Amino acid sequence: MNAPDQPDRKGLDALTERLAGHRIAGGCDSCNAYQTVAEVDGIYVVKVSHDDWCPRYKAMRRRPKRGRRSR
Ligand SMILES: [Zn+2]
Repeated sequence: MNAPDQPDRKGLDALTERLAGHRIAGGCDSCNAYQTVAEVDGIYVVKVSHDDWCPRYKAMRRRPKRGRRSR
């Protein structure tokens, strides 16, 4: 199967490999956050690191996680 509108996997892999370990500015409108790309079990994940004082980050930590069984 060869879909023409599929993103170029090789190009994408090369890009994520190059981004891994680097800090990319941005990711949050409320603070001077930066993003890092890391490989976890063969999957590239983007982590947003907020400043300690970031109100959005504080709100995120306070809020209970989604996916609770009881309603
Ligand atoms: Zn933030």
